[in-house]
Parts: sequence; structure tokens; C-alpha cells
Amino acid sequence: MSYQPILAASGFASNETTGGTLRVTTPVDGSEIAMLPEHDRAAADKAILQAQEAFRVWREVPAPRRGELVRLLGEELRAEKESLGRLVTLECGKIYQEGLGEVQEMIDICDFAVGLSRQLYGLTIASERPGHAMRETWHPMGPCAIITAFNFPVAPWAWNAALALVCGNPIIAKPSEKAPLSLLAVQKICDRALERFGDAPEGLIQTLVGGRDLGEALAASDQVPIVSATGSVPMGKVVAQVVAGRLGRSILELGGNNAMIVGPSADLDMALRAIVFSAVGTAGQRCTSLRRLIVHADVYDALVPKLVEVYRGLPIGDPLAEGTLVGPLIDTAARDAMAAALTRATSEGGTVHGGGAALTDSHPDAAYVHPAIVEMPEQSDVVHEETFAPILYVMRYTEIEDAIAMQNAVPQGLSSCIFSTDLRETERFLAAGGSDCGIANVNIGPSGAEIGGAFGGEKDTGGGRESGSDAWKGYMRRQTATVNWSTALPLAQGIRFDI
Ligand code: NAD
Repeated sequence: MSYQPILAASGFASNETTGGTLRVTTPVDGSEIAMLPEHDRAAADKAILQAQEAFRVWREVPAPRRGELVRLLGEELRAEKESLGRLVTLECGKIYQEGLGEVQEMIDICDFAVGLSRQLYGLTIASERPGHAMRETWHPMGPCAIITAFNFPVAPWAWNAALALVCGNPIIAKPSEKAPLSLLAVQKICDRALERFGDAPEGLIQTLVGGRDLGEALAASDQVPIVSATGSVPMGKVVAQVVAGRLGRSILELGGNNAMIVGPSADLDMALRAIVFSAVGTAGQRCTSLRRLIVHADVYDALVPKLVEVYRGLPIGDPLAEGTLVGPLIDTAARDAMAAALTRATSEGGTVHGGGAALTDSHPDAAYVHPAIVEMPEQSDVVHEETFAPILYVMRYTEIEDAIAMQNAVPQGLSSCIFSTDLRETERFLAAGGSDCGIANVNIGPSGAEIGGAFGGEKDTGGGRESGSDAWKGYMRRQTATVNWSTALPLAQGIRFDI
């Protein structure tokens, strides 16, 4: 099947997606959709130099005027919501509704950042010295690299880009080699916004196409003060060390192993819907996918068999088609990893419902799977790992403290939630000794965060925060200024130093 019209709708001329060395396939049917030209290290060096030059201009542009560029970007994204959403679906396999949702997130964060451009607030601080004023100001940092993962090819770019731009920083994006087209389409959208803006410096927004080596070049460059990287924990551990080695700043958004606790007082119908959306949405390939379900013994039998039944009826298929709820995995390697995890889970005492390849006759080169529920006798080794596929491990508990301890007993710390109508239990979950994750929800699943809150997680998830709240401070440098408007020169702490 030709997907050329989807590429054309995103503004790609056919000579832009042919003749290169990077083969891009669609998980929809495994076919090749592009052969893209790649950037080499010399091109990365050039891009960094250009970004540095752009920085010297952009940092002097008043922040509300910088916000105007992001406002225009939001407008252009609104106009392209359908075409970009469809391209995201084609390229990474999430259903079209979720492709649209990803673009909506981009629009939302643009709106947020426009407001923010007039609210990069500092502080005034009481000075201990007479005739002195102290203040804290936030200034632009410099070029910000944005390295992204295949499963969210555009939204995390926007969480970073919209903030970085209003904060006065040029951006250099490096999309996943598995899903580079969506960001190339976004670059085209940015170019239109830049054109309308008029006087933005050349090189303010750039996109580099390539693999890990390009990411490494950006991480290693001391001309790139901020490296925001989204992806796997092993990638993050390398990037963290490289950036720390040159005392740069990294913002890391890495893997999750997210849990839901279902208490005895939970509304089980609501819980069921939340479980299915967050465990099988994006075919279990969200960083915030629900992977562990910790269910109170009193409601286990009322919930789990129903869940198994719902799973049996899930519409699996073409993510571009109306009605599909479960699209394909990114590639056959992901399907093999899912099969291997299910084999391990069985050997660790689990009972598997579902799982296995789907649509192999109609789509032999794609990686469709039946989502799996695995009842585990305990939280064994395989449950501690993030397998990027729709596997939901289910475990039983009787005491809330044990459930919270189980929820926190994995290396990752991204998202978590509890379904309960018992206030004491939910507040326990949200208290200092409760969930150790960056995101903790009550009566909502772990996925589908709104942009208004800071997004990110602790432990192996990397500790970074993007998107809302005061995440913008991660893209600026803090300056403390003391101004002496008196005619004397008193020293702090009352120190005497007479000459
Ligand atoms: P990945 O780690 O394989 O690749 C992510 C990006 O990092 C790619 O662009 C890749 O080229 C680049 N990269 C790889 N090694 C690098 C290195 N040494 N230096 C610099 N760049 C390097 O991840 P993936 O398979 O594309 O994505 C899936 C993973 O991403 C999952 O673990 C998922 O949980 C995580 N993820 C996290 C979030 C979040 O916000 N926390 C969001 C989406 C995905």
C-alpha cells in the first residue's frame, strides 16, 4: 500500500524522502515509507555553531516577543493537526486518536509557553545591608539539544521546544532513527511560523536526522549547555555521564514501570476503563503505560476475570482505521522481546492470558500482538523490568502498606496511581512515605498527563521535569544580583576589612 498521500499532506516532496541512507518503515505493515538523507558529525558541528550564533541574537529578543513565535507555531500546528496526527500514526503505530492527542499536546504546551513568556518571574530578596537591593533573575542558557524516542515522536519535542524558545534558547532536535519523519514535518511547520515571525535568527530551530552517534555528538558538545533526552534507561545513563563529564545540564525522561493500586473501596467500573486505556493504549509503548496492577484480595475476583474478558474482545488492527484500539508494536524485535518476557514470566510462576502474535496472515511484515495479562504470585524479576509492549502483570495484596511498598520496589519512578474512595488510603498514597514517583494520581490511570503539570519521574526515570509548572527554570540560568545604592560599602556578615 502506498502511504505517499500521508507524506505529501505533511508537505514532503517525493525527492525529500528518497535516495538517502536511513530506511524508515511503518509499523502499520512493515513497508518502507522513506529513505532519508542523514546528517553526519560535521553537519552536527555546523548546526551547533549556527545555534550558538542564533543564541547571541535570540537572547536579546524580549521574552514576550519570543512568545509571539511560539504563538504562531501553535497556530500552524492547529492547522496541521490532522495531517501531523496521521503521520505520527503512520510512523509509530499508535491509533489515530492518539496521534491527534499528541499534536493537541503540542498545541497546549505552545499556549502555555506563550503565557509563560510574560511570566519568567524572578524574585526580590531582602538584603541584610542598608541601601542594598537583592534580586534573582532568569536568563537564557544557550542551545538546547532535544533527543527524542520513537513512541512519542512529537509531543516531548514540544514540551522542550516551546519552553526553550520562550526562555531564549535555540533548539537542535535529534528524533529517533525509527521515527524521524514526524519531526521533519514539524520542522516544516516551524519554518512557516519563523517565516511569519519575520526576524528570527537563522538556525534558531533545527532538526538533525541520524542515529545514536548524532545524539552522542550533541551530548558531548560543550557548546550545547542543555541536553534534554527522552528514551530508554541505558541511553539516559550514558547521556547523563557524558553531559555531567563536561558539567553541562541534562534533562532526562527515561523508562517507566508504572503501577495501579486498586483498593477494596474502588469504583471497579472506572478502574477497569482506566486500566484498559493505560495498559493497551499505544500498544503498551508509552513511558507511562500501566505495567503493574496491584489489586486488593477482596476485589481481585470481581476485577481480574472481567479484565481478561475485555482484553479478549479488544479490536486489534490498522491504527489508521476507525474503531481500532490496539495498533502494532514498532517492529518485530519488540514483538520478540514481548514473547521472551512472557516466557520468563511463566517460568517465574505467572499465568498468562492473551499474548502472542496477531494478524500474521494479513500483515506478515508487521508486529501486531494480543495484549497480555499475567497473574503473578509475587513481584518477580521480570516484573521489575520495563518491557515495551502490552503486558500487564497482576498481583494481589491485603495491606495498603504492602501495596505501596510493592509499587515502589522497582528501579523506575515515573508514574503511579491508586483507585480508592477511602480518603485515608489515598492521602497515604500521596504522602511523603507513599508513591515515590514523579506522577501520582488518584482515580485516574498513570498515563495521559496534562501539560499544566511538570512531567517526569525519579530513580531510573532520570529525575528530569518538562512541560508545565516551573519546569521552564530547567532551560534558564539563575542570576543573583546585589545592587548597592548607598554611599557606603558594608560587607556581608558584618565583616570588617579596613584599608
Ligand atoms: P532509545 O533509548 O533507544 O532511543 C531514544 C533516543 O536516544 C533516540 O533518538 C536514539 O538515537 C538516542 N540515543 C541512543 N543512544 C544514545 C546515546 N548514547 N547518546 C545520545 N543519544 C542516544 O529509546 P526508544 O526505544 O526510542 O524509546 C523507548 C524508551 O523511551 C522507553 O524506555 C520509554 O519508557 C522511554 N520514554 C520515556 C519518556 C518519558 O517522558 N519519560 C517518553 C517516551 C519514551
